[in-house]
Amino acid sequence: MTAYIWQSANLTEALKDLNPTFHSDFTQTSKKIITDTRKIEQGDIFLAIQGDNFDGHDYVKTAKDKGAVLAIVSRAVESDLPQLVVTDTKLALGKLGAYRRDQHPNLKVVAITGSSGKTTAKEMLGSILHRIAPTLITRGNLNNDLGVPMMLLELTDDHRYAVMELGANHVGEIAYTTQLVKPDVACVLNIGTAHLGEFGGRDNIAKTKSEIYQGLSDTGTAIVPFGNDYFDTLLNNAQQFTQNILTFGERDVSLADAGVDMQQAKEIGLTDEDTVLLMGDVFADDVEVGNTSTFSLNFNFEIDEIESQNVTLNFAGEHNISNALAAAACAQALGLSIDDIAKGLDAAKPAKGRLNFIEFGKHTLIDDTYNANPSAVVAATQVLVSQGAPTMLVLGDIGELGEAAQEEHRKLGETIAASGVTALYTVGELTPVTVAQAQASGMQAQAYPDKATLLAAIKDKLASSDDAWHILFKGSRYMMMEQVIDELTRQP
Ligand code: ATP
Ligand code: MG
Repeated sequence: MTAYIWQSANLTEALKDLNPTFHSDFTQTSKKIITDTRKIEQGDIFLAIQGDNFDGHDYVKTAKDKGAVLAIVSRAVESDLPQLVVTDTKLALGKLGAYRRDQHPNLKVVAITGSSGKTTAKEMLGSILHRIAPTLITRGNLNNDLGVPMMLLELTDDHRYAVMELGANHVGEIAYTTQLVKPDVACVLNIGTAHLGEFGGRDNIAKTKSEIYQGLSDTGTAIVPFGNDYFDTLLNNAQQFTQNILTFGERDVSLADAGVDMQQAKEIGLTDEDTVLLMGDVFADDVEVGNTSTFSLNFNFEIDEIESQNVTLNFAGEHNISNALAAAACAQALGLSIDDIAKGLDAAKPAKGRLNFIEFGKHTLIDDTYNANPSAVVAATQVLVSQGAPTMLVLGDIGELGEAAQEEHRKLGETIAASGVTALYTVGELTPVTVAQAQASGMQAQAYPDKATLLAAIKDKLASSDDAWHILFKGSRYMMMEQVIDELTRQP
């Protein structure tokens, strides 16, 4: 791996907009810039970030003790460690990440955002690209205005591709990170209902996710979700930055919207209500959904020319087909062949907590505890039901819904009851509303005050039944629903 050397000249160059001033002479060189003192090694540069609960400036001494050779700070602190003072260290991190990215003009970068499925699609695309050439992939969930530049700082001369996950906690965050990343391919997976609270509605979510296209050059490609109800908005936003558009998925449109002459259509007995299924540039058909999904991956090249390849995806759930199609569209935009794309998807594996199937005696536990939002719960419920009865959904609260929290939890009760899940067990402060609604809709449902009583109830249920159950666990990250699985599967 080729190391990248930081020294006073390129630091000053990268940070030139932030009034960089060396507090004392810095004559050394360094290979790494680190923001977490726990990870500092001899010779690293420490960059002090002021967070909500901590201030990196209080840790300059620790950094020095661990062998740091320079601290980048917003204000000089009492220390004999050389310091580079800038106006804002958070922006400095962005500038350094962007500088590193700019050093690799031949690198092909893909940026992915969306309400759900970012990490999954990123891993799928990573699996495709890894087979072809060294690829940097966002580690874990480092997708915000700090995580994205941190990932860019890990670029080396060996990398040919980079796949970056971009998330948004506020308006403008993706506009910022996409400018750092300068993607060659920018993809919006979907517009769902995640973080409804912060954004005040789906229109705003669509606007925020569309910011990703702002980082494209006019030779870049925008990937747009054909099946999403915000498709037109997203397409419009993408076209402001590039004319290279690839779509994935499929959707039903009215005959009129499909450009059919309704007068002629009615003469042969069709009505205004009839629809036609339109395909995006990359689509799936012959889908079979079991524990894994088998489908044939299709690419619409020019009109009437379709290339096709079978794929077996080791991911449960039809929503993952959409994630796979998005990854395939990104790879196609990079010029990969359909063979390579299919092989990469075949080899892709789910990350922990995302619909992982665990054998538990004669029962099957499905760990989907990584996180939740209302659309993701609905998607997971469909996966659960498709396993065959009896099924149990073990649900914890869903956070970050703002004023919509009660209503979203109530609606979930309705949807879950209608889905055909056998039993719903919940824990948390918000899910009792879900349970009340599910019971009102005639479903077997119970809310528990804490995980211990929930666990006992699950055990009782399994003990009193001869059936083999499928049990899916889900909830927001802070609910840590994986603890219930850990307890349940712990040997006595
Ligand atoms: P985060 O915002 O937390 O980073 P993410 O967008 O990276 O989330 P993933 O971690 O890939 O999303 O998936 C989280 C959960 O969202 C999955 O466990 C699954 O239940 C659900 N999910 C994934 N893809 C989709 C999709 N295309 N549509 C609906 N739900 C999905
Ligand atoms: Mg993620």
